[in-house]
Amino acid sequence: MRIVVIGGQITGSALAASLAARGAEVSVVDRPDPAGSATTRSYGWINSHKKHPESYHALNVAGLEHYHRELVKVPGVFEAVGHVEAAGAPAHVTSLLARAERLAGLGYPVERLTARELRALEPGLRAPARESRGFPWEGLAHPEVLVAHFEALARADGARHLTGRVTGVELGGHGAAVTLADGTRLTADAVALCAGLGSSALAASAGLELPTVAPTTGNPAVGYLATTAPGPRVSRLVTTDRLNLRPHTGGGMILQALDLDVDADPAAPGGQAPARVAEAFAERLAEVLPDAAGTPLRAYVGRRVIPADGLPAVGPVDDAGRLWAVVTHSGVTLGPWLAERTAREMLTGHRDPLLGPFSPRRLRGPVTARGSAAHAPREPGEQ
Ligand SMILES: Cc1cc2nc3c(=O)[nH]c(=O)nc-3n(C[C@H](O)[C@H](O)[C@H](O)COP(=O)(O)OP(=O)(O)OC[C@H]3O[C@@H](n4cnc5c(N)ncnc54)[C@H](O)[C@@H]3O)c2cc1C
Repeated sequence: MRIVVIGGQITGSALAASLAARGAEVSVVDRPDPAGSATTRSYGWINSHKKHPESYHALNVAGLEHYHRELVKVPGVFEAVGHVEAAGAPAHVTSLLARAERLAGLGYPVERLTARELRALEPGLRAPARESRGFPWEGLAHPEVLVAHFEALARADGARHLTGRVTGVELGGHGAAVTLADGTRLTADAVALCAGLGSSALAASAGLELPTVAPTTGNPAVGYLATTAPGPRVSRLVTTDRLNLRPHTGGGMILQALDLDVDADPAAPGGQAPARVAEAFAERLAEVLPDAAGTPLRAYVGRRVIPADGLPAVGPVDDAGRLWAVVTHSGVTLGPWLAERTAREMLTGHRDPLLGPFSPRRLRGPVTARGSAAHAPREPGEQ
């Protein structure tokens, strides 16, 4: 089977590797400037922490299990270091206890941590902590290393990679074709949309609907992150009242402060956050991890890929199975597992039962009724 995968970041690179490993003839097309993609600006927390409804929780658990089973063996892509959350503010304490209770009830590992245990795990942490919980099964990924890993696997299995912008997809009775901005035309048996926020327009070019939440200032699809220079840091994922912290490649950290996201502008020049946002990150870092006070940091704007109702869109988009999609938020957690299952479905027709509720075809019809369903992550424990 000849398949063109549009998008070469976490979902596209993983799907290409899974398809090529199963013997498909794969071409991957990605834009020359993927720096603004969701994958290059992700917090990379591998979790099923606050995922509703339960069918979506089950999907994220499958993603997590895949990391523990498969990706933990690949050097440098996944650190199974766990996550600790320290709540001091009353609202945060309430939400942490409710989440911990729900997750424990679902059989998800949760540990109650005393102040002494928290200090032993993260000696430099000075965040207020009336209640602390550990989520030892969670971990962190390095998305750019994962993409390089999957790209190398796909190449080794014969996939070819093209750089260019796809301007349109055509579906015919016996196959599909994509056209690039430079006029190149690729024909295939099927096309897979792994193009993040570009997926909606590409589906529309084929006459199909795949609505996603368009990023606008402060909406759920936009959020700030910051990266720090090498220096004192935490050794696992840490969530506190006002700052989330995790180790990053190269000795620094990635920081997130969801309540700051209310005015994040997706059109900020160069994707850079305003100076006041960088200052807010620096101030919170000095409070929470005083050893790291003054560490240089850079704050930027990320754009989330969110189908219109907030849930993944995975599977055939058209009725004949010529156009497929893997379009999702939490794509670092979900992408590698979704890629495996989607490759199998594309080549054998077998759909994983867990994917039942996530057909892209549910998104056909008026979007307005569902447009507001995506929830803006603003509180600790969300993403
Ligand atoms: C601030 C933030 C924090 C996040 N935190 C987490 C987290 O902690 N855990 C987690 O699991 N997930 C997290 N996510 C979500 C996760 O990063 C995304 O779901 C995932 O990266 C989506 O990957 P993708 O490959 O589908 O899309 P993208 O990474 O956006 O890649 C799509 C690619 O397609 C290309 N493309 C688009 N249109 C075209 C076209 N017409 N022609 C050719 N190429 C095209 C783009 O250039 C891009 O390279 C976060 C996202 C953000 C923004």
